[in-house]
Amino acid sequence: MRRGIAVSPGVAVGTAYVIHEIYVNPDTKELADSEITAELASYEVARDKSASELRALERKVEAQVGHEEGAVFAVHQAILRDAAFTNKIRNWIVEERMNAPAALHRLLGEYTALFARTNDDYLKERLNDVRDVIIRLSSHLSDVLKPDQASIEGPLIVIADELLPSQAVALGDIDVHAIVTQAGSQTSHAAIIARSRGIPAVSGVKNILRKVKTGDTIVVDGRHGVVEINPKIESLTAFRKLEREFVDLKDQLASNRELSAETADNVPLQLEANINGVSDAEAAHNMGASGVGLYRTEYLYLTHRDVPDEEEQFSIYKEIIAASPDHSVTIRTLDIGGDKTVAYLGHDHNEANPFMGWRSIRLSFEHPDFFNTQIRAIIRAANEFPANAVRMMFPMVTTVEELRKLRAIIRKAHRTLADHGQECREMPIGMMVEVPAAAVTIDTMLELVDFVSIGSNDLVQYLMAADRDNPRVSHLCQPLAPAVLITLKMVIAACNRRSVPITLCGEMAGKPKAFILLLGMGLRKFSMSPAFVPSIKQLAQMISIAETEQILESVMKFKTTAQVNKYMTRQIERIAPKLSILDSD
Ligand code: PEP
Ligand code: MG
Repeated sequence: MRRGIAVSPGVAVGTAYVIHEIYVNPDTKELADSEITAELASYEVARDKSASELRALERKVEAQVGHEEGAVFAVHQAILRDAAFTNKIRNWIVEERMNAPAALHRLLGEYTALFARTNDDYLKERLNDVRDVIIRLSSHLSDVLKPDQASIEGPLIVIADELLPSQAVALGDIDVHAIVTQAGSQTSHAAIIARSRGIPAVSGVKNILRKVKTGDTIVVDGRHGVVEINPKIESLTAFRKLEREFVDLKDQLASNRELSAETADNVPLQLEANINGVSDAEAAHNMGASGVGLYRTEYLYLTHRDVPDEEEQFSIYKEIIAASPDHSVTIRTLDIGGDKTVAYLGHDHNEANPFMGWRSIRLSFEHPDFFNTQIRAIIRAANEFPANAVRMMFPMVTTVEELRKLRAIIRKAHRTLADHGQECREMPIGMMVEVPAAAVTIDTMLELVDFVSIGSNDLVQYLMAADRDNPRVSHLCQPLAPAVLITLKMVIAACNRRSVPITLCGEMAGKPKAFILLLGMGLRKFSMSPAFVPSIKQLAQMISIAETEQILESVMKFKTTAQVNKYMTRQIERIAPKLSILDSD
């Protein structure tokens, strides 16, 4: 049994399909003279197949996700065409009698060593692209990597170091029942995909690639971040039963999408979705979310080579708003930095404490051209839809001065637009409460904003001084810690007292235990991964506000996270026993 971070709930039993196995165990062979020509030909066939796959992927992703996301695969085609790349492989096959998979493996080693010497984050990112292309080529040369479902018995569980962008897209065509990664975190590709598809996932499982091989039987418990390899029959039977319950429950809940969100005593709630792009906006629709409570614009920049211009941003924002439920969208300005870097915004050095450093609005303030462009594009896009349907929100707000400065920047954007003959309406302006300083001074902050959204993912990590992506301190980075609950209760009460609309858009909004406590604190609006909306809607219908207030009262007396967890586990088992499978630690 191995432990990692629980990044997407549910239980699955299946057969391992190890994506990076070739790198742990490369298929090496010295060629005989007579085999060299055939090996060169196999490599050319693999190149052709890869090129046509990449062209198809580029078209598919461009149509379904967007032009910039599709462009990643154009970059991959350019790598594939690169003469230096291909000449090295050919030389090693001919002169060193290496088989093509081994040559590719060696080339990856060379690139890894080369990129390790650079401090340029943009270049470092490109290593992922090279690796992706090499894996794709290898998949056409080695049986190990072929996603040949027919040869693998039972439902597939993908095991990888971390999912690369193209693998993530390719998984869209395969019936995957769970994902386990060696690296990764709550915000990695694997975690995001698993949550949006509603399949269990565990990340940060140390050495999993050395312990598992394709064909092994795997149990994934996304509730507790546990993975079992070739478990005993008793364990297997118990998990198979849990898996059946999980699948039945998901099917049943998805049919609730038209139901209104309200508690057992008919208090109306707003359950919105967190999205990163157009396909998520469509998922939000399908899952019955009432709007988008958080559109993370950084994904737009992460896939760009240069600052996207105002027209491009304007049209993308319009597209997202049009695809979102009720055209109701909260657009968050760029939240880059921390673990996500964009070279063209000056991220060319490694900070000692990136999460506490130059990120989000701190960075945007120092790039006024870029920041003004984004704000103008948002204002113009909002103007195309009904009043107040679109809101603008700022991440990482820490001080009142920052809010004043933001207000001035928005006023300036309106003036510039008016000077160009474009009069735009005012729109609701909000802040995220994710820095403890903002939570502590919430009363002063509220004078300057129209709404608040608690970013509990960051608020918890900063409050507990425990990196949200570091498995070693994940026992501290807990949303049910008493310190967190006290802070959340205080912020929610302050907003309700002043009638400033408040929502919470961190991962805890979609977790049953936390959701009940937030209801008890007086929160009525939530934003979560689209896949969690149906289960939270169901849970809301099973509990009254009075009951949540009683539960909260008991919980606020506990002194430890363990006590809160234990008590809330019992409560969920009592209120909605079937839903506990959809909760995660
Ligand atoms: C948060 O911090 O809770 C949040 C929603 O923002 P992100 O996860 O993008 O940092
Ligand atoms: Mg955040």
